[in-house]
Formats: sequence, structure tokens, C-alpha cells
Amino acid sequence: MRLFECGTLVPGCEWHTRADEDAEVVRRSVEHMRQAHGETIIRENMVENIKARIRDENQVEA
Ligand SMILES: [Zn+2]
Repeated sequence: MRLFECGTLVPGCEWHTRADEDAEVVRRSVEHMRQAHGETIIRENMVENIKARIRDENQVEA
């Protein structure tokens, strides 16, 4: 599983998501950014920032 924690991008946010594929993690993360952080325009560099912070879950819990 792949994991993204919003707190790595938005300090203090506890939201996180996990999915089998990076594309799904990015999709959910963008949705969260819109709803929780008021990002109505998702800039390309935000997607890059999310991608850069996705990691393998087993690196976290191993
Ligand atoms: Zn957040």
C-alpha cells in the first residue's frame, strides 16, 4: 500500500490516505485539499508535492 499524510504538506493536518496505486492516492489527496483546505484551483506543483511525499506504508510500520 502507498501512503500520503497531509501533515507533510499542511502542518498540523491529521488526514491521511492509503491506496494500492499512487494515482489513487493523488486523486483522494487532491479531493481532500479542495474540501479541507479550500484549494479550488489545484496547481500542477501541488500534485508534484503530493507525489513526492507518497511513501510505502510498510516503511512506516515495519
Ligand atoms: Zn489536510
